[in-house]
Amino acid sequence: MTAVEITFLGTGSGAPSRARNVSATALHLPQRGEWWLIDCGEGTQHQILRASHIRLSQLTRIFLTHLHGDHLFGLPGLLASRALAQGGVGPVTIYGPEGVEVWLKATLRAAGMRFGFPVNIVTVKPGVVCTDGEFTVMAAPVRHRIEAYGYAVQEAEQTGRFEVEAAAALGIPPGPLYGQLKAGKSVTLADGRVIEGASLVGPTRPGRCIVFSGDTGPAPELVLLAQGADLLIHEATYSEQDRSLADRAAHATATIAAEAARDAGVHALLLTHFSARYEGGESEVNLETLLTEARTIFPETRLAHDLLRVSVPRREQ
Ligand SMILES: [Zn+2]
Ligand SMILES: [Zn+2]
Repeated sequence: MTAVEITFLGTGSGAPSRARNVSATALHLPQRGEWWLIDCGEGTQHQILRASHIRLSQLTRIFLTHLHGDHLFGLPGLLASRALAQGGVGPVTIYGPEGVEVWLKATLRAAGMRFGFPVNIVTVKPGVVCTDGEFTVMAAPVRHRIEAYGYAVQEAEQTGRFEVEAAAALGIPPGPLYGQLKAGKSVTLADGRVIEGASLVGPTRPGRCIVFSGDTGPAPELVLLAQGADLLIHEATYSEQDRSLADRAAHATATIAAEAARDAGVHALLLTHFSARYEGGESEVNLETLLTEARTIFPETRLAHDLLRVSVPRREQ
């Protein structure tokens, strides 16, 4: 079974603070020897050096939610270092809104830069962004000041578990017969009994689903995208007490994020992209206030912090 692990590389909004870098999140698939990056704020490559379990050379896909600098400006440096410092030669595909290609190519040209590995750029539209048989990534438009997308990473359905104990109890000898039964075929035993494979295979299990909101105000499209997800990673730049700031900048409050989690019926919510105004102790509101605010609406809420690692286990039914 492929493990899925999330590592937060930057959990602050706008500009880096001493405690938090700007937006970037890694989705690590260790058995596949690869990981994906969602957004790439400036300094993301430094954060990757601090997260020793992920290597730049194993990065294969980058999903950009939108083109604000705090989600984008780390990209040229990170790509430049991939081959230079870590010998990454495999291709990287970048998915993002219209404009990524023009911006990146202009930067490359101006700097006389080459990456040393193929870089593919795909312009995102709502719907399926990419699929590899095991995972499908879907995008939905969200509500921000510029074109912005939320992404869902959906694992394919898993075949049911083969009930080894039940097979043994029926006196079926372990070996090739197990393989046929597992595949749902019917098998005739040496003593003439016919065993239906389907009777020994448990129900199909849903794949895992992880959703990334990017920057957004209240967005019904995101709630639809996140229906029943195992984990929703949602921005919560502000507290509801600063709702006017959130509305002005098309950002979420902890309340908006928790309402999205509740309405989508997700299993867990992780808040990120916090305003630095709640860190310094100048405001009466702090991050604990945001957590309490969200938990009132959606109890399964946690706050992300830089370098937090969270594994997403498969749900048992
Ligand atoms: Zn942002
Ligand atoms: Zn933004």
